Amino acid sequence: MAIVQCPSCNKSISDKYKSCPHCEISLSGLDDEQRHRLAIKSRVKKQQMILNHSFFALILFLGGFLYLYNQSPQKGTIEYQVCIGVISLSCVWYLVNRAILVYLKKKK
Ligand SMILES: [Zn+2]
Repeated sequence: MAIVQCPSCNKSISDKYKSCPHCEISLSGLDDEQRHRLAIKSRVKKQQMILNHSFFALILFLGGFLYLYNQSPQKGTIEYQVCIGVISLSCVWYLVNRAILVYLKKKK
């Protein structure tokens, strides 16, 4: 018995399983070509999800920035601190997502 990666969800499973216990994809009768295609499909799906996250972070960042610019809340108020918090959090979130995307692209 050997431990292999599920071609669909990338979790470690035994090669004796007829279907993945995590994502329930059928593994019997899959040739290398089909496994390869499934692996690509799951990677593209993951990249798409990260891309959506970074897009959402960008919108949050712009929203916080525009609010700060238009409403110009007083320094030291909760409103101001929430704005700064949202801006810095979304900035970090965006950068982390971009880094993951670069990493995923290099991995292949
Ligand atoms: Zn799976």
